[in-house]
Amino acid sequence: MHGESIHALYGHRVIYDAGLGRLAFVKKVLRAGRWCWPPNFEDLIEIQRRVQDIPISLSPDSIFWETVGNSFSTKMAWQGIRSQSSEALWHNLVWHPSRIPKHAFCLWLAILAAHKTRDKLLAIGVLQSASCVFYCGAMESLEHIYFQCPYTENIWKAVFAKCNIYRPIFH
Ligand SMILES: [Zn+2]
Repeated sequence: MHGESIHALYGHRVIYDAGLGRLAFVKKVLRAGRWCWPPNFEDLIEIQRRVQDIPISLSPDSIFWETVGNSFSTKMAWQGIRSQSSEALWHNLVWHPSRIPKHAFCLWLAILAAHKTRDKLLAIGVLQSASCVFYCGAMESLEHIYFQCPYTENIWKAVFAKCNIYRPIFH
């Protein structure tokens, strides 16, 4: 009613007094194109009086976004609520059409240095030790786990060899 729900204005009791269900539609209080709240309680009589100036449309209900006539879409809703930031120069490297979602997500975290590596978990007190999980004796960090650890270095060497690339792994 005028931008506020009947429930917010009068509480649940009037819904009960009107004999309506909690999820009742507005059409339950319309008869022959007119407002027709049951006049059995004072609050309901007041509601009937207050809604008289609200026009009743016989056209089906439609959902609009921001302005009448603007169809709702989740895309528009997302664009409306998100904060815009500048486009990342590397986004096509990560979010290309042939991506493998798990790989893209992992690469995205790596570019942002957002992996919760053991050195970070140690710093916030989650772990007692940041020792590399591959038992090389070093502290696990993003650079270490991806490039410096002997274990991952061997993986890179094997991948490079299959691609006929012969250069240092980390430079
Ligand atoms: Zn290691």
